[in-house]
Amino acid sequence: MIVVVSGFVLDIFTLRNKQVTAMALWPFVIFRNQNCRNDKFILNHELIHHRQQIELLILPFYIWYFIEYWTAMFRCGFKHHTAYMSISFEKEAYAHERDLNYLKKRKWLASWPYFITKFKQDDRRKKNNQF
Ligand SMILES: [Zn+2]
Repeated sequence: MIVVVSGFVLDIFTLRNKQVTAMALWPFVIFRNQNCRNDKFILNHELIHHRQQIELLILPFYIWYFIEYWTAMFRCGFKHHTAYMSISFEKEAYAHERDLNYLKKRKWLASWPYFITKFKQDDRRKKNNQF
């Protein structure tokens, strides 16, 4: 992991979204400022993303991430936060960011149950015409 602490660099990747405190771009973790850098839960969240990225050989992770994001954006009427929180990788990271031992016990491809749950929910919504 290579740590970068720079709001300027983070702004480039987030289109100046000031609510983003950190981002995992393997092998980098970019933090908005030193306070974010010192937050062990933010770091844990980003390290969970690093593990997900490594499992999917980096590039497929980003492709899958943006497919989920943009699919959700269209479905939810372009509400960024709703779309972001529906991404399977984010669900896993938020669910476990406060468990600082999570990465030690995390099984290979632990994101998979979040994908399966997501698609089952999507199927249910399609059947009920909720999209
Ligand atoms: Zn995240």
